[in-house]
Amino acid sequence: MIYAKMEHHEELVCATDFKRGYNYFCPGCKERVTFKNGPHKQAHFAHYKKTCHYFSEGETDAHVIGKKLIKLWAEKRHKQAKIEEYLPEIKQRPDVLINLRNSQLVVEYQCSPLSLDSFCKRTKGYKEHGYRIFWIIGKRHMLGQRLTQQQAMFINFHKNIGYFLVYLDAETQCLILKYEICFENLYGLRYRTRIFADATAVMLFVKMNSRNEVLALTRVELAGQLTKLEKNCHYFNRYLKNQIDYCYERRQLFMGFPLCCLSEVRLPPIYQHEDIFWRIRVILELQKMTANSITRSEIEVMFMKHQKITKNFFELPFVNRLGRKQVNDACIKSLIKYRVLIPIDTTENYQICHKIEWANDAALKKEKLR
Ligand SMILES: [Zn+2]
Repeated sequence: MIYAKMEHHEELVCATDFKRGYNYFCPGCKERVTFKNGPHKQAHFAHYKKTCHYFSEGETDAHVIGKKLIKLWAEKRHKQAKIEEYLPEIKQRPDVLINLRNSQLVVEYQCSPLSLDSFCKRTKGYKEHGYRIFWIIGKRHMLGQRLTQQQAMFINFHKNIGYFLVYLDAETQCLILKYEICFENLYGLRYRTRIFADATAVMLFVKMNSRNEVLALTRVELAGQLTKLEKNCHYFNRYLKNQIDYCYERRQLFMGFPLCCLSEVRLPPIYQHEDIFWRIRVILELQKMTANSITRSEIEVMFMKHQKITKNFFELPFVNRLGRKQVNDACIKSLIKYRVLIPIDTTENYQICHKIEWANDAALKKEKLR
């Protein structure tokens, strides 16, 4: 470990600031640790006995240590930082409050579960009073292949690293960055992972990185999505059944949906249900419309209506607007590509093509993938 506690001190000390003649202790199990340093190894502390079971037991301890680490990392950057400072105007105690040159930054280290409602209230409270807020989350919220609302609400965006989440692992005293997070229909999440020793290392990485996630899907990948969706239709799942019934009531075979319902790019990580479902409903509505043209804003209202009904998205308070704009843009692009919408001049008006082809089976559709 890089950080340990000195005797009679509450704060953590970095191994690079080790002083001879003092005793050091593991912040987790409180056992004495020894200082190690060599020509080929970074200075660090180690347990005398190999095991430290402390962290498996509770989150509260991880939370306490995490806050101290955040404070220490801020101080290493010559910023003043306070743990649980009471802010009377909002009646809240942020985990760590850091004084920046022109503003104050609240860092919340969330280890335990948190409701979306409390998340929004807390975030809003800080923002309204001029504080900047940054959420770091504990390992319990670790990203897997599927997103949950619990994880989704913490997602933020940076132009150099795309959609991201920052974790603090109090046990290894490291920051874990999940970045370039995107969503692919039926396959779930894709992202990169990187581990950092402290906040400075993360900030440097973010500054230097340039995004290179592969967003475009290949023909083979799209065909794979269709195959997987077909398989899913054989299992009972009420959500999917509702979608199948919805098409059936409108005299269409669900699996025969037009190819323009299939996104050809990976999408922002905001999905609870596949992109296909709301797009199918949009197509069905466009088909029965009597008007011959539609404006961009009318299309967006239609999109929003169906996205709401199909509960397609999670709430991502930081990036809702950005994510949904990217989703809508991707759909309009597909509709234009498959000539369901034809742009009129350079204005944001489109001509509607009412004859949209539905396939009789998925195999035929796979052949048509361009
Ligand atoms: Zn220990």
